[in-house]
Amino acid sequence: MKFEAIQKETVMLNPFKNMERKVISGQIRKDPLTGRTSRICHFMKLQWQKPDFEKLIAGTAETCPFCPEKIMKITPCFPEELIPERRMISDDMVLFPNLAPYDSIGAVAVMGSRHYIPMTEIEPERIAKAFKLALDFFRKIKKTGHPEAVYPIINWNYMPPSGSSLIHPHLQVFFTSSAPNLMRDELSAAKRYKEETGKNFWDELVAIETGGERYLGKIGRFTWLSSYAPMGVAGDVLAVADEICCTLELSDKDLLDIAAGLTQAMKAYDRIGIYSFNMNFFTGAEKDDFTRFHLLFSPRTYFNQALGTPDVGALQKLFNESLCMAFPEEINTLLSPAFQ
Ligand SMILES: [Zn+2]
Repeated sequence: MKFEAIQKETVMLNPFKNMERKVISGQIRKDPLTGRTSRICHFMKLQWQKPDFEKLIAGTAETCPFCPEKIMKITPCFPEELIPERRMISDDMVLFPNLAPYDSIGAVAVMGSRHYIPMTEIEPERIAKAFKLALDFFRKIKKTGHPEAVYPIINWNYMPPSGSSLIHPHLQVFFTSSAPNLMRDELSAAKRYKEETGKNFWDELVAIETGGERYLGKIGRFTWLSSYAPMGVAGDVLAVADEICCTLELSDKDLLDIAAGLTQAMKAYDRIGIYSFNMNFFTGAEKDDFTRFHLLFSPRTYFNQALGTPDVGALQKLFNESLCMAFPEEINTLLSPAFQ
């Protein structure tokens, strides 16, 4: 396994210092599994201004389809051959078909009746319970023998900078035979790695990274790390499971352990003014023993809050080339106190 980086240097005349020569260095890092590149540059202070949440949230509950007075009236239901009870309910959580599907078997899981939960107030128990509801959904679909019951995926867009159009916390839950791009790249690279070395890439990564400068901690059978070649402008947090390769193998304890790590990542990013994130499960199909279940938590922000400038521009969007504004090892020192 190689952690490769190409060094880059820019020379310019500095307008803030009488046009003196200034050298700015950066790095292009290669993801050790897929070779996907990520640029470590800019080196701005990782501190953002949070918006006025009261102003941001004001009026959004009235039109929210996930709030208790509307959810059972205006959300769709599953046909009886998929989910006989039509919608799945766990106390105040509800799972129903995604009205805007991007695959055959897609659902939304609303994480309770509370319309707005600040990032640092999302309880691990709530997250674990919503994950469990999604897992129950996957198991029910699997029982029907549906051909799409291959990769059980949970994604989370929290708050508008992440791409969420609603404030009300909810998960995107889908079961698919069509692995999304990056997950597919990772799966084929991990398969190749196993064939060439006889070893599991992820087990090797955990062994190499444990105790190192990108290590955050171990919770249950999950190792939490900062990604070497992150996709987020403020780094990515990665959690890799021991032993298991598929979402369906997660136990109730695993779900609580994952939730605990996620809330620690949220706490850490909150301190630098981040209040939004994406979180994706990366899963193999059952018995894909060349991979390991892992998840990626990526903080999201606006580059310009007032203009609503997203942290994704042409470089990321069309070249799929990431940009991270600090060395992941430095970001790791900001994150690690929350994981102690
Ligand atoms: Zn709501």
